Amino acid sequence: MNEKQMYINGHWLSAESGQTRTIINPFNQEVIAEVAEGNEKDTQSAIEAARKAFDKGEWRHTPAVERGKMVLKIAELIERDKQELAELETLDTGKTFTESMADIEDIAEVFRYYGGLADKDGGEVIESPIPDSRSKVVREPVGVCGQITPWNYPLLQAAWKIAPALAAGNTLIIKPSEITPLTTIKVTKLMEEAGVPAGVVNLVLGNGAKTGQVLAESHLVDLISFTGGIETGRKVMTAASANFKKIALELGGKNPNIVFDDADFETAVDQAMNAIFFHAGQVCSAGARLLVQKNIHDDFVTALVERTKQIKLGSGFEDTTQSGPLISAEHREKVENYVRIGINEGAELAIGGKRPEGEGLQQGFFFEPTIFTNCNTSMRIVQEETFGPILTIERFETEKQAIQLANDSKYGLAGAIWTKEIRKAERVSSELRMGTVWINDFHPYFAQAPWGGYKSSGIGRELGKLGLEEYTEVKHVFENTNPKPLHWF
Ligand code: NAD
Repeated sequence: MNEKQMYINGHWLSAESGQTRTIINPFNQEVIAEVAEGNEKDTQSAIEAARKAFDKGEWRHTPAVERGKMVLKIAELIERDKQELAELETLDTGKTFTESMADIEDIAEVFRYYGGLADKDGGEVIESPIPDSRSKVVREPVGVCGQITPWNYPLLQAAWKIAPALAAGNTLIIKPSEITPLTTIKVTKLMEEAGVPAGVVNLVLGNGAKTGQVLAESHLVDLISFTGGIETGRKVMTAASANFKKIALELGGKNPNIVFDDADFETAVDQAMNAIFFHAGQVCSAGARLLVQKNIHDDFVTALVERTKQIKLGSGFEDTTQSGPLISAEHREKVENYVRIGINEGAELAIGGKRPEGEGLQQGFFFEPTIFTNCNTSMRIVQEETFGPILTIERFETEKQAIQLANDSKYGLAGAIWTKEIRKAERVSSELRMGTVWINDFHPYFAQAPWGGYKSSGIGRELGKLGLEEYTEVKHVFENTNPKPLHWF
């Protein structure tokens, strides 16, 4: 890859400062790309380009059906290049190629969904209480959208933002994580190939404080959509208040996975493994908190520990690999520190807790899948997002206690309930304070269903119809069909 990767006003540019950043493969620390490192000036140029394009009106006045066709065309190009995109995602993040391919297929689906939805909301005529009048409610694009994404699902998170923003007629500046920008660069090229007009999509790369922060602060930006950690989310929200821009925040999670003693034991064990160890636990919706009912607790722990011993770590390109490395040396240190914290807090380390010794794993940022038992809600490892392969297990006795423990968290992203008794599942589901509840499953999400969090897990929703509505303003248009003087003054 060469270093002209920022896309501003229809042109591919190097950073104004000439600076670049080295992107490495977390599996072996090999250099995979040298990319432009943008700063405040580059971001400002991108904002101005998006503002000009929005105000010019070409894209927002393009009929919705035509905007939808453009979004569908992008889906086709992603489908065409999915092998290359999945390879890039695995190189950049270390996740398995199978996971990357599943992500890319989901991404194409997200573009297809919003392409299809673009022309479905024609507004509504409402009954006006005033004689000789007509009243209608229409949805219009919000304007210039700043979009900031994290490193764990780089292109997936970008797709959740770009596809609805384009379908609704907005212009945008996308700012991917500086650690994993490669697939977002590639898809920006595909959007250019599809024929998206200059200035409608702009791509800025670089350190968050010098780029994302500028997007959040700018008075020329109308909406900021951010996915990332809560500390950064707080900065974004504060900066966005400068001009009261619309905000959508998708933040972290510490998601409870509740297993009742009548659950199908084998399935619940299998899915509890997947819930936490998928993508090495670097998933906002990871099932990092397992709550198991007393009667089956010990057998459940034994089964999990046995299964965890078998997990195959390795290169994402090996068919036998089940989990790749963590994203960076810095992130692995953070995860390791949580193991020390857990031990000091009195949790029992049942397995893992260190770097693996296996051959071929020494150059990568690998960490052993780890299980702590004897955990409780006063512990930091139960309350904080470790964002690594660390499972904490708590024991509960009653349904009421399970609900109370599950809700004892500042987060409210997602959770799961395992039981054969559907009434119990529904009762518990209605008490859980979180944006997604899975019953007898873990992790499903799809373009048609909204995604987002209660409490400190965020504001707003992505995906589904609500994900498109986030990118619209609502306008009431009232028409007096028989205007007369009022003679009031
Ligand atoms: P992060 O908060 O460190 O960074 C996210 C993005 O914000 C990056 O692009 C970064 O460059 C940018 N950024 C950094 N400082 C900024 C600033 N001052 N102003 C504006 N932007 C700034 O998060 P991360 O480590 O990349 O991602 C992991 C986090 O993302 C986890 O907490 C995870 O739960 C969360 N996440 C949430 C969801 C969800 O759907 N709720 C999905 C994926 C990831």
